[in-house]
Amino acid sequence: MDNKTAIEKLMEFVVPVTESGCWLWIGETQDDYGHMSIDGEDVCADKVFWESLHGQIPIGLCLCHKCKIRSCVNPNHLCLKDSENYN
Ligand SMILES: [Zn+2]
Repeated sequence: MDNKTAIEKLMEFVVPVTESGCWLWIGETQDDYGHMSIDGEDVCADKVFWESLHGQIPIGLCLCHKCKIRSCVNPNHLCLKDSENYN
């Protein structure tokens, strides 16, 4: 998949907030988290943005929102977190 094209397409579903720097996802959501469909597969929108910039998320890690805004997909507002704590 061509990431650049995909991201450009994704940006149509993003509303940037100047004050906070958040990119609010206005597409599909589940529990306020951005969701989207790629090739018929349901994926987290924040994950797509993160991976387009940093590559695949290592197994055992998950994304958390530093800004506490669930629908935010700005990769700069996301960080990787050990999912061990959630087990
Ligand atoms: Zn944010």
